Amino acid sequence: MTVGIEFSFSPAEEAFRAAVRGFLEKEVAPIVAAMDESEEFPRPTVRRMQEEGYFGVPVPEEYGGLGLGKVGYCILLEEVGKVDASHATILGAHTSLGTTPLLYYGSEEQKRRWLVPAAKGERLLAFSLTEPGSGSDSGSVHTVAERKGDGWVVTGNKIYVSNGREADTIVLMAANDAKLGPNGGVTAFLVDRDLPGFSVGRCEKKMGLHGTSTAELVLDHVELGPERVLGGPGRGFLVAMTALDVGRVSLGAASLGGMESAATQALEFAQHRTQFGAPIANYEAIQFKLADMAMKIHALRFMVYHAAAHQDRMGPEPSRWGHLERQTKTREAATVKCLASEWASEVIDEALQIHGGLGYIRGTPIERAYRDARISEIFEGTNEIQRLVIARDLLDRGL
Ligand SMILES: Cc1cc2nc3c(=O)[nH]c(=O)nc-3n(C[C@H](O)[C@H](O)[C@H](O)COP(=O)(O)OP(=O)(O)OC[C@H]3O[C@@H](n4cnc5c(N)ncnc54)[C@H](O)[C@@H]3O)c2cc1C
Repeated sequence: MTVGIEFSFSPAEEAFRAAVRGFLEKEVAPIVAAMDESEEFPRPTVRRMQEEGYFGVPVPEEYGGLGLGKVGYCILLEEVGKVDASHATILGAHTSLGTTPLLYYGSEEQKRRWLVPAAKGERLLAFSLTEPGSGSDSGSVHTVAERKGDGWVVTGNKIYVSNGREADTIVLMAANDAKLGPNGGVTAFLVDRDLPGFSVGRCEKKMGLHGTSTAELVLDHVELGPERVLGGPGRGFLVAMTALDVGRVSLGAASLGGMESAATQALEFAQHRTQFGAPIANYEAIQFKLADMAMKIHALRFMVYHAAAHQDRMGPEPSRWGHLERQTKTREAATVKCLASEWASEVIDEALQIHGGLGYIRGTPIERAYRDARISEIFEGTNEIQRLVIARDLLDRGL
């Protein structure tokens, strides 16, 4: 992608978008309503997406991915977001939050062992930071990692882990020294589900995202060798925040897709639904809603791909990033996440309003989208926290 005064996708990116769209229409769209109703993880469609290489889109080809960068990955998530937010969340938890830490901070050996099978779609990843006592204050990790020989013993409870029930490996944050706090006191570990002492606890029932698992993970003296430390002891909070910068932009892409789908449905409905002898699209009150939707979609499209292209230009080696560049990336990600999630809620709400009573009927795509969208204002850091991140940078550097 080139971003300057001109904003355009390359022919290869356009071809990728068309291929993804065709795949989703044929294989995913038909099962989404039933998935939402059954509240089951969509294994067959996830498997098919893994076979297509969609679980390794931004990962370089040398590590088993498609090598399409963050821009390609956002194209994927925008298209998936149009069809189903659950599939977008499963992809995002695996790719943004699972493969990014491995690609950015993994040793060559760790990349070969964990990243390659994940990018090829042979293994599913999850990311586990949140705990019962540690949500927005995510640096105050209570899960304990104690030294044992050259390895570690990890004990504690994690909650709300997307893909937590199904993941083969979890990038999991534990406190190596609580006194040190986020900088130095938190370590990222690679935890495989078959390790002794690891188990999946309660899985939450949710308002939306019915195709995703949101699981508790229980670690009862899980022994982890030194090869399972990602990024070095004490650097886990940095690893987590770097992954979240990627996740917040891709969340923006999925929200963009959700907005585009809702607006398209509203536009079509408004042109066909007749009241008072004319299509409701003839009424200014409806036209203004549609215009507001289009404006938000237009602005968000630029923001998402601008941030994604910036992350691609920065590359996957954090040691090469300058301090200011890192700060800019974090602020951009927070901005995209916050606006995208709020605009998605607004656009989908107005699209539902245009559908009248039909929009409130269980099983319509707009009703599902309304329930699915709300969480984006909360996960990957609440929007209050995004505003704190942006304000802190503003106070430090100005506009
Ligand atoms: C469906 C789902 C999937 C999730 N997936 C994952 C996952 O895969 N991995 C993972 O680690 N976590 C995951 N989470 C957890 C999610 O990231 C947290 O729920 C979120 O970060 C908020 O934490 P909390 O729920 O503890 O809320 P709290 O931190 O308790 O916040 C409660 C309220 O207080 C506000 N607040 C808190 N501190 C401040 C402050 N300083 N200033 C102003 N307002 C403040 C918050 O914005 C919020 O409105 C998931 C959650 C859900 C529901």
